[in-house]
Amino acid sequence: MAMPCPSCKAPLGLTLDFIIKNPVSVCPHCQVIMNFSASKVATDDLKKGLKQIEDLKKKYSNIAKFD
Ligand SMILES: [Zn+2]
Repeated sequence: MAMPCPSCKAPLGLTLDFIIKNPVSVCPHCQVIMNFSASKVATDDLKKGLKQIEDLKKKYSNIAKFD
């Protein structure tokens, strides 16, 4: 999983593993200091997971409507 810069959205090529080990990094594109705490990353992952569940629910509700 690669994280984009939260400021300039440039792809950083940082993996979740790297961020957990190095929670404070500097963006090479805009020099913003990024402070990824492990809990913040976990929260983002949770949000993504929840969004995927919501998308699936929408899919299934659409299927149900056409039935
Ligand atoms: Zn940046």
